Amino acid sequence: MVSHFTRALRLRCPNCGGRPIFLTWSRLVPNCPVCGLDLGRGEPGYWLGAYFVNLMLVETVFSVWVVGFLYSTWPSPPWDAFQAGTIGLMVVSPVACFPWSKTLFLAFDLLIRPPGEPDFAVPHEQGYNLRRPRA
Ligand SMILES: [Zn+2]
Repeated sequence: MVSHFTRALRLRCPNCGGRPIFLTWSRLVPNCPVCGLDLGRGEPGYWLGAYFVNLMLVETVFSVWVVGFLYSTWPSPPWDAFQAGTIGLMVVSPVACFPWSKTLFLAFDLLIRPPGEPDFAVPHEQGYNLRRPRA
């Protein structure tokens, strides 16, 4: 259980620790290159949960920022600096947290729903199955 989240924090496959699983900062490979786990778990809209994790991460960053800033500058906080810092932080932190939101959500999902045989199925070309037989 803990190892799933440790691997996720290292931006590796939460199932096996394989890498690389990111093509870019925001784009995952479809399957883990080591264990073959379908990182989208075969569900459309699967990453909606990652957006929720991203929201929780950003709200945590915001809470730590507000409490830390006010605690360190009280009783006369510089409100203009606080406003500018808050805006900057709220623009940058969702992008900065994005890959961890995906891996942490996947680790949580693997904990709730352990991977089964369909999660390791080899990807196939969907168009091939849509061909009609020749008459
Ligand atoms: Zn893997």
